[in-house]
Amino acid sequence: MPNNIVFSELALELQATAREIARKHVLPGAVKHDKEQKYNFEAARAVAAAGLFKTFIPKEYGGHGAGVLALALVTEELARADSGFGVAFAVNALGSFPIILGGTEEQKKKWLPQIARGDKFVAFCLSEKYAGSDAGGLSVTAEEDGDHYVICGEKKWTTNGGVADIYSVFCVTDPTSKSRRISAIVVEKGTPGFTIGKVEDKMGIRTVPVVETHFDRCRVPKTNLIGGKPGMGFKHAMMTLDYARPGVAAQAVGAAQGSLDLALVYANRRQQFGAPISSFQMVQKMLADMAMKTEASRWLVYACAAAIDAGMADTISKRAAMAKCFATDTAMEVATDAVQIFGGYGFMEDYPIAKCFRDAKILQIYEGTNQVQRMVIARNLVKEAEGLAYLRPYLPTEVQKTYKGTEIRGHAAAGASSGG
Ligand SMILES: Cc1cc2nc3c(=O)[nH]c(=O)nc-3n(C[C@H](O)[C@H](O)[C@H](O)COP(=O)(O)OP(=O)(O)OC[C@H]3O[C@@H](n4cnc5c(N)ncnc54)[C@H](O)[C@@H]3O)c2cc1C
Repeated sequence: MPNNIVFSELALELQATAREIARKHVLPGAVKHDKEQKYNFEAARAVAAAGLFKTFIPKEYGGHGAGVLALALVTEELARADSGFGVAFAVNALGSFPIILGGTEEQKKKWLPQIARGDKFVAFCLSEKYAGSDAGGLSVTAEEDGDHYVICGEKKWTTNGGVADIYSVFCVTDPTSKSRRISAIVVEKGTPGFTIGKVEDKMGIRTVPVVETHFDRCRVPKTNLIGGKPGMGFKHAMMTLDYARPGVAAQAVGAAQGSLDLALVYANRRQQFGAPISSFQMVQKMLADMAMKTEASRWLVYACAAAIDAGMADTISKRAAMAKCFATDTAMEVATDAVQIFGGYGFMEDYPIAKCFRDAKILQIYEGTNQVQRMVIARNLVKEAEGLAYLRPYLPTEVQKTYKGTEIRGHAAAGASSGG
């Protein structure tokens, strides 16, 4: 069968498998798992058995090498059934990307096949109590001691913590360096000195654990230093976030679609004034806007993921930030309107729509807040504006002279030399 014009045959197969697993293993228990704050191991085993963890692992290391677009399709389907399970899946990619993008051959061979099989789950430990948006301000240290690093300190908000077996931990290895301060080190579950601390009691995504991870003189072999060279951690973290943001954006698309699905079914069944509420224009406007924005988010995410798969490195940061920001703002908006459509029932914890609303909020916060995404987008736009110099003749003369930073300095010097 020929490839679909946009998606590979493999990507569509993985999407179909994810949809089936989502309906059979994720959706039915989602509310119960949310109430009990329990991880859905049964669904995770089904995902592993179906080979879905192989989606984002390169072929050479036991994966499908299906790329970021396929990862987005799979995540979307799982999140549509339960946003928490969507991130429980996607965070495996987030934690694996430092190894995939920056690891040595030995490290890839050691860890990636186990992740592909679903034998080992992964987590990503960047954030700390005092270092969230400012990821450069980390304080967890890793000091050299012979053939080992000794890690000390605490990480905050580790998604999948406790469930995961492999942790990509970002540590300060050179406090004196500005550009090479941080390194990423793999810490495996069971390493002496590594423990799970506080398990967070969250507003939403209660079906995946988020915990503090503690490192008390935790000794790990130097062979676990990702890439084998210290000081590459900040670069690995930023590359990882660019690759992983379409994943969280896809989670948002799934979450938005899940809210919309429930709202549609409800609006067709709920009767007021002798007619289904879906026949009222104001409800229709809400439904139409929810659908339009969800679809716009979906294609922004797919375009970003496709750009990553095509190796369009220059554009990735901006695209990933746009997709993450737009899709997650949409998910929150759609969940809010879905609750509105449910009326009073929407406010009750008796029905999953309340869970959709609670689950949506975190999307605007983690993997870089949406304020941070807007900063990334704006920074890229300002840089790109240099390439729009051909528009300069259309600007007021005064502004033409101050169009570029270099020209501002040139203009000032000229002014000074002319003596005013
Ligand atoms: C449920 C959950 C799961 C998470 N999972 C993980 C995980 O698996 N791994 C991990 O490493 N981290 C994880 N995080 C951490 C998450 O990425 C951070 O919470 C996020 O990056 C924001 O950091 P912060 O909470 O410290 O907020 P802060 O950085 O303190 O920001 C607070 C507010 O100030 C705004 N702000 C900050 N700086 C600026 C600025 N320069 N300009 C404008 N506004 C600004 C922010 O947008 C925000 O609104 C998780 C967090 C949560 C809550």
